[in-house]
Amino acid sequence: MTDPIRFETAAIHVGQDPDPATGAAVVPIYQTSTYVQEAVAKHKGFEYSRTDNPTRRALETCLASLEGSTHGVAFSSGMAAIATLALTLRSGDRVLIPDDVYGGTYRLFAKVLTQLGLDFATVDMADLDAVRRELAADAAMLLAETPTNPLLKVLDLRALSDAAHEVGAVVAVDNTFATPYIQRPLEHGADVVVYSATKYLGGHSDLVVGSLATSDDALAERLRYLQNSVGAIPGPFDAWLLLRGLKTLAVRMRAHCAGAARVVEWLQSQEAVQKIHFPGLPGFPNHEVAARQMSASGEPLFGGMVSFEVDSMERALQICERTKLFFLAESLGGVESLIEHPGQMTHLSLAGSGMEVPEGLVRLSVGIEHPDDLIADLEQAFR
Ligand SMILES: *Cc1c(COP(=O)(O)O)cnc(C)c1O
Repeated sequence: MTDPIRFETAAIHVGQDPDPATGAAVVPIYQTSTYVQEAVAKHKGFEYSRTDNPTRRALETCLASLEGSTHGVAFSSGMAAIATLALTLRSGDRVLIPDDVYGGTYRLFAKVLTQLGLDFATVDMADLDAVRRELAADAAMLLAETPTNPLLKVLDLRALSDAAHEVGAVVAVDNTFATPYIQRPLEHGADVVVYSATKYLGGHSDLVVGSLATSDDALAERLRYLQNSVGAIPGPFDAWLLLRGLKTLAVRMRAHCAGAARVVEWLQSQEAVQKIHFPGLPGFPNHEVAARQMSASGEPLFGGMVSFEVDSMERALQICERTKLFFLAESLGGVESLIEHPGQMTHLSLAGSGMEVPEGLVRLSVGIEHPDDLIADLEQAFR
């Protein structure tokens, strides 16, 4: 083949040739810690499963391909991926993170890494002047996240990357909400992409895995060294489950995006809804950036996450507790729809920080059930 294969095809084939030993069509779960050597230091490329494992290697090869990158590195969770990425820095380095960054990332920087002498600052990354001021004050890394959680703010990755590179900062993007199917940050100037594969990449709410992808050889070498040194790796079974999830990522994302768009349309007709946060809405801040930055096969796609505000916390909690198909739960990105109240659940740790989310905010992770059933469920919960 001369053309590079397309996303949908790569998800099913890259890193996943038939098993050379048996012809198995699906990559086997190599549930082994060690590998027998023919003679001292004479082996088949695998010595110990923290360092490398065939199932994990297949996953990493596939993840790199989906990102359009040359290297993929898998971890035991999204937080393990971010923590390992942070270990590429040195004491005294300063990292910029979004003011509405994922709560676990904020906790890692604020409560753990500061103890090791790593400095950080939060900044509204939709405000490029504010970002430039913080970059000028010193920054070794800028870690962006778009769309953000739970307000789904859209950041301009090209503008952020250019600004950060001017001062020599590494640009990392947590792409968990968008997935590589609809947004590939390396194409917009980023150096490394971060995932909680627990969410859309796995897609079935049955695993916890994280990953990093980069085309920077030196950074990749350092990340591999750290992956082996720290050891926060996914086991073979989780790697296998994630490989299985990736095969349907493209079709699932199309269904998530279509379902979310239908739900948003319905929310717009509801008097009780005061505000909708969804990058696909014309007039939503940075909608044009989203339309340019988020797409598949040339078609703009805005993801499966939707947030909306009603007039009070009581009403928001009522809606969250009354849905039946939408499960009341944290996390996101699975085939089943989820509903939650960020103020009292995922973002409770922000209470008293000055960065609280609105009380009447409800977050939806729109699954791939039939949109009519999801709307009927919301309808009865609103009544
Ligand atoms: C869930 C999540 C993480 C953390 O990932 P885990 O797999 O739960 O460790 C990081 N970033 C974002 C945006 C997330 O949604």
